[in-house]
Amino acid sequence: MLYDNHGRKINYLRIAVTDRCNLRCHYCMPEEGITYVDRSDLLTFEELERIVEIFAGLGINKVRITGGEPFLRKGLTDFISRINSIEGVDAIHITTNGTLTKGIVPQLSDMGIKSVNLSLDSIDAQRFYQITRRDSLPLVMDTLEQLIDHGIQTKINMVVMAQHNVEDILPMAELARDRPISVRFLEEMPFNGSDSTTDLGLWDYVKIQEHLESAYPDMHRVADAPSSTSMNYHVDGFAGTLGIIASYTRSFCGSCNRIRLTPTGVLKTCLYDDGVFNIRDLIRSGATDEQLITALQDALSHRAKDGYEAERNRNINLITESMATIGG
Ligand code: SAM
Ligand code: SF4
Repeated sequence: MLYDNHGRKINYLRIAVTDRCNLRCHYCMPEEGITYVDRSDLLTFEELERIVEIFAGLGINKVRITGGEPFLRKGLTDFISRINSIEGVDAIHITTNGTLTKGIVPQLSDMGIKSVNLSLDSIDAQRFYQITRRDSLPLVMDTLEQLIDHGIQTKINMVVMAQHNVEDILPMAELARDRPISVRFLEEMPFNGSDSTTDLGLWDYVKIQEHLESAYPDMHRVADAPSSTSMNYHVDGFAGTLGIIASYTRSFCGSCNRIRLTPTGVLKTCLYDDGVFNIRDLIRSGATDEQLITALQDALSHRAKDGYEAERNRNINLITESMATIGG
């Protein structure tokens, strides 16, 4: 079993399989001037499989596939199916923008994918376009309905931005009225691929909660899953639930059970750190499984207490990376 220096059990690995994306959500990536990493610098699926196998032996039983847009990476479904059969891996989750998934949902359902997080920041076509700089809302909505039809647990992630989509909060919440899904509202974070600050006038979790409560006075808290990052609510008569994720104000670090791998193999023990070691480089220099395990254990023995400490400890102070290189 893996524990960090604060006694937190680590059982969840998030893998960003690519930094490439077909959308340009402006809270995540600039419109132009993006330099993608060389394909030869990406962890190969074989390297990733080895990592998952080793980590699963240490108690990692939950894996999330994310990106960039993970479905841009060729061979992804075969890779998912291979790691799905690794002993110790109980659940595979996927985070996607849902634009490339329509034809793949039945396959995901057959594989027993535990849940899909679908990123959707507006159901208004014009605002969807303004936010993502692409015209793909119908594709995402098709994916949403297919996921529900195939019985895959679905969570929608909406990043709330003061100047862009506050008017969408309630229409998005309404998606959970007749659908058995969770609609989650995230605070915007500074990982937008530039040194510009986030959309100031942050809609923090308190403001989001008050806004929802003003429309749904009977909204009440329901039990959160262990290590959940979301505070979850039910509204009478709703088939689904609502959630709020304090991703910027970081109220959930105390129970954090996750580590992250970037597309180039940088291991992050906190979303807000700038990487603790590069596992790809170790693998390519011929490291044994034992050496990889030692590197991981060492990293966890120096883990920051919370996102604020991780941010203070960064080598590069300013956050300029894109979330597409981290995976969310
Ligand atoms: N492309 C996929 C997608 O959009 O779902 C997976 C990768 S994306 C980086 C993962 C998650 O990070 C998405 O839910 C997205 O909304 C969220 N995200 C990206 N940039 C963010 C930011 N600056 N603040 C908050 N959430 C962000
Ligand atoms: Fe692409 Fe996801 Fe980032 Fe949007 S949030 S630009 S879909 S990686």
